Amino acid sequence: MSPTPTRGTLADGWGRAVTYLRLSVTDRCNYRCTYCMPPEGLPDKLPHHSILTFEEAERIVGVLAASGVRRVRLTGGEPLARRGLEDLVRRLVRVPGVAQVVMTTNGHGLAGRLAALAAAGLGGVSVSLDSLDGARFRRVTRQGDLDEVRRGIAAATARFRGVRLNTVAIAGFNDDEVGAICRYAWDLGCVPRFIEHMPMSDGRLEIPGRFLTAAAVRARLLGDLAGTLTPDPGDGEGGGPARYWRHSGGGLVGFIAPLTEHFCDSCNRVRLDASGRLHACLYHSDAADLRAALAAGGATAVAAAARAVLSRKPPEHQFGPGTDGASPKHMGALGG
Ligand code: SAM
Ligand code: SF4
Repeated sequence: MSPTPTRGTLADGWGRAVTYLRLSVTDRCNYRCTYCMPPEGLPDKLPHHSILTFEEAERIVGVLAASGVRRVRLTGGEPLARRGLEDLVRRLVRVPGVAQVVMTTNGHGLAGRLAALAAAGLGGVSVSLDSLDGARFRRVTRQGDLDEVRRGIAAATARFRGVRLNTVAIAGFNDDEVGAICRYAWDLGCVPRFIEHMPMSDGRLEIPGRFLTAAAVRARLLGDLAGTLTPDPGDGEGGGPARYWRHSGGGLVGFIAPLTEHFCDSCNRVRLDASGRLHACLYHSDAADLRAALAAGGATAVAAAARAVLSRKPPEHQFGPGTDGASPKHMGALGG
């Protein structure tokens, strides 16, 4: 890619327009997925006063939406752990320019909250699901409850179409469940998506030999279900980095493969962590403090800080398998 800045919209120095914001509303979580957080939770947890208020989040989203952000995904930690999330949804769907507010969740507690979130304007959910076996599920989440998550998924599918079920592919853990997870998702009208594990947290959560490529997952899928897979444009709902394939049985399946099937040249996203730091890339150490900018200079300063961090965004990440290719950032703070 050659650097060709785009004017008028929020874009990075390589001309990639930013239309999608992942907004982490908390760095806390009721689960402790082994690939995401240590048993005691994230190091350097944000003190309460460091977490963006809803009003600050709304104002920052307003600035980003004025520059082209159209879709906001609430994430965490676990977004449902943030008290009053419905109020934030209500505020964000009213922000001029924002076309859709959606959420990525572990699904615990979702069944009881979904009606209120949907009434507030939430437009869709993705739910993480790494195993259909209760004991395994508990092992990978350390404290998860599969039945509770299934209730959340059922509630989500009753309310929204095309619910995504996100599975981190882990060799020797859930590679024997690829076909079963697809069948489960398709029977509910969901879209299963398999994510390649990204080494985060300086590689401290890495388990050697567990990395599984998207190609290996596809091979496993065909081994489990037979038939064929054909590349497919998907249903246009994702707006993200997943690449879709259609199984000859009719089901759609997505793959998010940052390590083996790079998608950096079409990157359209930024991430705002729960303290208001804007990250242009999951991998690089690049954050700009938009909360401080808001306090110091209002909308103009926020826009300038966002443009500055984007102008420094490298063309691609440097993730690689194992600790050598790890990012110092924490996935549990950035929200995926
Ligand atoms: N708690 C919510 C959840 O689990 O969906 C939202 C935050 S979580 C960090 C967002 C997504 O990131 C989840 O689908 C999770 O499986 C995924 N994830 C976490 N750590 C990851 C890693 N190291 N590599 C790839 N995906 C990861
Ligand atoms: Fe929590 Fe989601 Fe991380 Fe699991 S992946 S520990 S549910 S933030």
